[in-house]
Amino acid sequence: MTPPAAGGCQCGAVRYRLTAPATWTGYCHCRMCQRAHGAPAVVWLTVPSDGIVFDRGAPQWYRSSPEAERGFCTMCGSPLAWRPVATRGDDPGIDIAATTLDDSTAVAPQMHLWCDSAMPWLAIDDHLPRKPQGRAS
Ligand SMILES: [Zn+2]
Ligand SMILES: [Zn+2]
Repeated sequence: MTPPAAGGCQCGAVRYRLTAPATWTGYCHCRMCQRAHGAPAVVWLTVPSDGIVFDRGAPQWYRSSPEAERGFCTMCGSPLAWRPVATRGDDPGIDIAATTLDDSTAVAPQMHLWCDSAMPWLAIDDHLPRKPQGRAS
């Protein structure tokens, strides 16, 4: 995804704009994403922490685990973002739910993460790498 790319929640109360190219994009099949998004998988797009500008509103952050928090719209509940709470040197960036972009047709996921909890009824017909857990697995 190359800038300018913009997106937002379902109701429009939160609008954002990406100001930096994505550094990573991929599917997550973890149970927390499945529950938080009410979907079998989420496609995430990572941008540097300073690579997103909220033009209207801002997400509310919910601490979903000791390691990370999830941003959502308080008006419509749309899940929008994910970010680690503690950084270890390098900027971990912020993950944007790719389908909240106004046009996410150009997003090209690189891999599948957390396939250990992928829904068995979700047929994936691609040849991308499939990691059993996180990126390092
Ligand atoms: Zn909203
Ligand atoms: Zn996940």
